[in-house]
Amino acid sequence: MSDIRRKLVVGNWKMHGTHATNEALLEGLKSAGPLPCEAAVCAPFPYLAQAAERLARSAIAWGAQDCSVHEQGAYTGEVSVAMLADFGCRYVIVGHSERRALHAESDQLVADKAQAALARGVTPIVCVGETLAQRDAGETEDVVKRQLSAVIHTLAHCVGEMVVAYEPVWAIGTGRTASPEQAQAVHALLRAQLAAATPRAAQMKLLYGGSVKPDNAATLFAQVDIDGGLIGGASLKAADFIAICRAA
Ligand code: PGA
Repeated sequence: MSDIRRKLVVGNWKMHGTHATNEALLEGLKSAGPLPCEAAVCAPFPYLAQAAERLARSAIAWGAQDCSVHEQGAYTGEVSVAMLADFGCRYVIVGHSERRALHAESDQLVADKAQAALARGVTPIVCVGETLAQRDAGETEDVVKRQLSAVIHTLAHCVGEMVVAYEPVWAIGTGRTASPEQAQAVHALLRAQLAAATPRAAQMKLLYGGSVKPDNAATLFAQVDIDGGLIGGASLKAADFIAICRAA
């Protein structure tokens, strides 16, 4: 475990929840009291105001799950980073594998979104990760390096300000977690790649995501280059999310 990086645990609610269920979830998170790590929840756009209102004056930050690369204009359905900043968003997830796969987001588009976020003072959580076929073909290293490289080149001197999340696609929502050793091996590669680009690499937070649960979080978070998690399914239950935060 690193002394120089405080752990960060981020909930990715994906397209789940209603006003009523969020109310209970946010209340549960708030009532947990002080946490040993930094924590945030990334809510669907319509519920950002609810998260902002309920989490104000709490230690838990909030964020979005995507953003536009554009500032404003005729982009029907898009949400700009300026709008997210208006809601006090601290984070925005960019390049989640579901967006890369279902919305054909390219490495460069993801990098441009990360840049748009930083330009407005919102921290991008940039997701990278290989599919099962790519892992089986021995391509994991090439894939994650390529994905990260686009972001490094685009952000240039601001690289050190992003958060990176390694999420093997085969571990997302499948109940099949990467072993702590598998995850650490990729995190070490990513940190080495970042170290070649920024003197801040040792301070940067690299999160692991993919079927993190209360019972596997502690061993994952104990790895030297794993600085917390991006949590999908288990972030929808306050008790599970809090238990994961306490494992950090
Ligand atoms: P999961 O999702 O925890 O449900 O596997 C993680 C993610 O997709 O961010």
